[in-house]
Amino acid sequence: MIELAERHTFKLPAKCRTLIELNSSDEVEQLAFEEPYYLLGEGSNTLFLEDFQGTVVCNRLLGVCIEELETSFLVTAAAGENWHNFVTDLRGRNIDGMENLALIPGSVGAAPVQNIGAYGVEVATFIEQVTAWDISEKCWVSMSTEDCQFAYRDSLFKQHPGRWLITSVTFRLPKDWRPVTHYSPLNQLSDNASAQSIFDKVIEVRQKKLPDPKVIPNAGSFFKNPVVSNALLESLLQKWPDIVYFPADESRSKVAAGWLIEHLGLKSLNEGDAAVNPNQALVLINRARATGADVSQLAQKIMKHVKEASGIELEPEVRLVGKHGLVQLAAEK
Ligand code: NAP
Repeated sequence: MIELAERHTFKLPAKCRTLIELNSSDEVEQLAFEEPYYLLGEGSNTLFLEDFQGTVVCNRLLGVCIEELETSFLVTAAAGENWHNFVTDLRGRNIDGMENLALIPGSVGAAPVQNIGAYGVEVATFIEQVTAWDISEKCWVSMSTEDCQFAYRDSLFKQHPGRWLITSVTFRLPKDWRPVTHYSPLNQLSDNASAQSIFDKVIEVRQKKLPDPKVIPNAGSFFKNPVVSNALLESLLQKWPDIVYFPADESRSKVAAGWLIEHLGLKSLNEGDAAVNPNQALVLINRARATGADVSQLAQKIMKHVKEASGIELEPEVRLVGKHGLVQLAAEK
């Protein structure tokens, strides 16, 4: 069995049967393994809750290629590139657009899977093409933005986990750039803020709110911000006039899950060494020796309290891997 604690940022003690590291496209074409398997990037959105009785496939493909066109830059990055290093590299070359997405943990290949987004910008806006190895059909595929079926923190890849191994992503970054600063705290910047000032601000805020996984193991936001009907929101507003929410579409609103957790006094909860992060309640942390069982119990307890108090069923944003593959958590009974 192979140790996985250092391969996911929550650092839970867990092992897998086999581990394959992919360093080239040739190795991708020769991939051969049996079920169950799990595709892993930097492990910043995956928690191995217990020993996984299968194969973990780690994508380590590297390389960035930039083409300057008349009105845009076409940038292709291999899936194993670190996301923040990629964003920083573009910034250094004065290629604008990705600055709101600075410091999101993980790899380039993971970015399309959950259509990462922050401070009013989604990566799907810039994605021109995703190249992937179709594991079932054993062939290469090139997918357009439409093919990827991007939605809020969602995509075709997320709907069919394990079907495609993303090997590279091509982004189109228009030269006609405009700052996106309507989200707090970027709205403190001037209307004509530079991409560099946005990049710096995003890093400053994230470093203040989010624990560094190298110091305190965590996987960023543990739960999704729930989207609820406006009818449910109305009833919650009667109870909690200061609840934090934003319109999602005509009939639904997005509620800040961190606000709910904090407001319900759940910040002090812990199970063993699994706890709620004091600076941003949406993040769960491993204080030292948390186990998968500790994390599951803590998450289920939070889900139960939130459901009882608000009627909202929180869903984990992170991926949880058990003995035989992905597992779903339900609120504690
Ligand atoms: P936050 O800024 O406290 O925001 C909490 C929630 O409020 C998010 O759902 C956010 O929308 C929403 N929100 C805030 N201002 C808004 C506005 N002006 N209009 C519409 N919605 C608004 O969140 P945080 O946890 O500290 O995270 C900071 C940013 O990083 C957020 O944008 C968050 O979504 C993002 N993030 C992304 C990922 C990921 O891609 N996997 C993981 C963690 C955090 P959005 O959901 O549209 O951002």
